[in-house]
Amino acid sequence: MSIFFDKKLNSLTPYTPGEQPKETKGLIKLNTNESPFPPSSKVIDAINEASKNLNLYSDPTCSRGVAATAAFYGVESQNVFLGNGSDEVLAFVFHGLCRDGAVFADITYGFYNVFASMFGVKQKIIPLGNDFLIDVDDYNGLKGTVFIANPNAPTGILLPLGEIEKLLAQDQNRLVVIDEAYIDFGGESAVNLVEKYNNLLVVQTFSKSRSLAGARLGFAIAEKSIIADLNRMKYTFNPYNVNSVSLAAAKAAMEDTEYFDECRRTIIKNREYITKELKSLGFCVLDSHANFVFVGKHPKIKAADYYGLLRDNNILVRYFGAERIDDFVRISIGTSEQMERLAEVTRIITDNFKTF
Ligand code: PMP
Repeated sequence: MSIFFDKKLNSLTPYTPGEQPKETKGLIKLNTNESPFPPSSKVIDAINEASKNLNLYSDPTCSRGVAATAAFYGVESQNVFLGNGSDEVLAFVFHGLCRDGAVFADITYGFYNVFASMFGVKQKIIPLGNDFLIDVDDYNGLKGTVFIANPNAPTGILLPLGEIEKLLAQDQNRLVVIDEAYIDFGGESAVNLVEKYNNLLVVQTFSKSRSLAGARLGFAIAEKSIIADLNRMKYTFNPYNVNSVSLAAAKAAMEDTEYFDECRRTIIKNREYITKELKSLGFCVLDSHANFVFVGKHPKIKAADYYGLLRDNNILVRYFGAERIDDFVRISIGTSEQMERLAEVTRIITDNFKTF
């Protein structure tokens, strides 16, 4: 730390991103929930075209990306905010829309408490049940902005829309943020509730189901005055928050519904395959509605060892080692070939452990 660093930031604990190895040849990378599929060819064409104008600043209103997102979800453009990844959208929400603090689960997306510490937001942590389920009654009467990742990360467990509606109705003066980074892999989005509930903010990303993690694109859908608040913050911080190449990508990705549907259908199919395989080899696999599975509690093999043994076989998954989840690894869903290889390696590992 330099002598110039502001003391009020001394206690920051930065987020630890999943490893992005420089050399990926021969490696099956299943550690950061990226899409194993390239962006749509229409997105690539749009990016190539947009790159010719990189001498110009990007459109601060993000109008083409916003309009395409609004059209996809059947809302108005004033209901949509586009960000530099959904992490940026979440950062704005923590910075400016957590008047009474923030409330979230003990096991959820690791960035929530990082943002809370960055922006000095008081946190109230609500433990998940023993089965990793959210009980919305635990949130009744709490004042801070509620953050729910749905499906949750890293468990993949989906909270039904009816429960989200209960949460919204508990207190219409309390903002509820539904982080739907993984909703396209089998869940039902809360976007349709935005019309009915002025206290709902839905956050989504292009990083997973639209194969654009590297483009850094995320968005929020909410009642217009909340979106205006986000824009007010953005124009105070970085008016050109989405670059013009990514903006072109956002529009093309939203419009190519065919490719989007094909990719997510394949992920769901591969998730079902690997869930069955891993269960048959003795692992507990939580019921996932995301593009990853949370796997562990094997009678013979500790999750930390499974992580290491997969790594020895060039398969990279994520091991958090945190309280309550230290006997689980999170495995992103890849292509059929990758999932078959994962099943094969896991079979060899479990066979070896049988002899102990
Ligand atoms: N929310 C959740 C629950 C996530 O897992 C992630 C991805 N790490 C994000 C938000 C952020 O995604 P991005 O910034 O790539 O849009």
